[in-house]
Amino acid sequence: MRCRRPAIRAVDAAQPFDMEAQASDLLDRRGRLKIAIIGFGNFGQFLAQTFARQGHTLLAHSRTDHSAAAASLGASFFSDPNDLCEQHPDVVLLSTSILSTATVLRALPIQRLRRNTLFAEVLSVKEFPKNLLLKHLPPDFDILCTHPMFGPESGKDGWAGLPLVYEKVRIGDYGDRAERCKRFLDIFEREGCRMVEMSCAEHDASAAETQFLTHTVGRLLSLLDLKSTQIDTKGYEALLKLVQNTGSDSFELYNGLFMYNKNSTELLERLDMAFNSLKKDLFGKLHDVLRKQLFEDSAGN
Ligand code: NAP
Repeated sequence: MRCRRPAIRAVDAAQPFDMEAQASDLLDRRGRLKIAIIGFGNFGQFLAQTFARQGHTLLAHSRTDHSAAAASLGASFFSDPNDLCEQHPDVVLLSTSILSTATVLRALPIQRLRRNTLFAEVLSVKEFPKNLLLKHLPPDFDILCTHPMFGPESGKDGWAGLPLVYEKVRIGDYGDRAERCKRFLDIFEREGCRMVEMSCAEHDASAAETQFLTHTVGRLLSLLDLKSTQIDTKGYEALLKLVQNTGSDSFELYNGLFMYNKNSTELLERLDMAFNSLKKDLFGKLHDVLRKQLFEDSAGN
């Protein structure tokens, strides 16, 4: 989307326009970015490991004090979001739970950021954050929606070949803005991710079939408390792996996949119908056999 250069206005009294232009010119020539991760939980920390390895400067803010984890990754942790925003990151990356994102975003003092900061997010649903960011952020902020289709478990041995879905929702076409967005996406490309540019709506339609289904089956199976045996088949091993892959994600994440993807309700209903249809087939055949036996027994008497 093309953005017109906005009129100068005092968004942040501490950050006059000249300074902003200067800071923008100072985008590290070696491709490094200053990235502020908001929501430094399971996934935020997982991403930070790779960002840090690639030499980016990391800032972090979260509801919980994750300062020790941040320090171990070479990131600076800020309990107060005002302090973080005053560091003028190039990119603010939301890695909050789907359910808390609106509240967290509203509490961010965005007036303390550089006026053309890039907002990116990694939520597992896409239409919801896209609409939220478009509604909440002033038009001068850039917006990049992404979904790394992997997590700390499936991506623990590297990201090569794993899909990174993204939509450039709003990237301004002056200054270093396109370059900044490219550099952020390059982080994933350098790790060998399969880069998939796709609209947020398309993503959500597919993700209900793939992601929500996977998590639902994984969670269902985990309720059975399955154990490995001496005679595991390949199929059973795949089921145990699915339980392991989905079990380390929070219930809040799973709930978000359901609540904030309108396609998930229909998928759950289809799954329910499919299960009932299978049971009907099995019990129908069992009834036939039992009835036949009953009649044979009574005829023999
Ligand atoms: P999550 O349970 O979805 O989110 C945990 C994060 O949300 C933590 O940083 C937590 O902060 C924050 N949070 C939760 N409730 C909050 C509240 N009321 N106020 C403020 N912050 C709150 O688990 P996650 O695995 O870390 O996922 C983070 C995001 O990445 C989600 O949007 C998820 O959909 C997306 N994602 C996850 C994966 C994955 O495999 N895990 C893959 C792709 C995308 P504190 O830690 O400070 O409590």
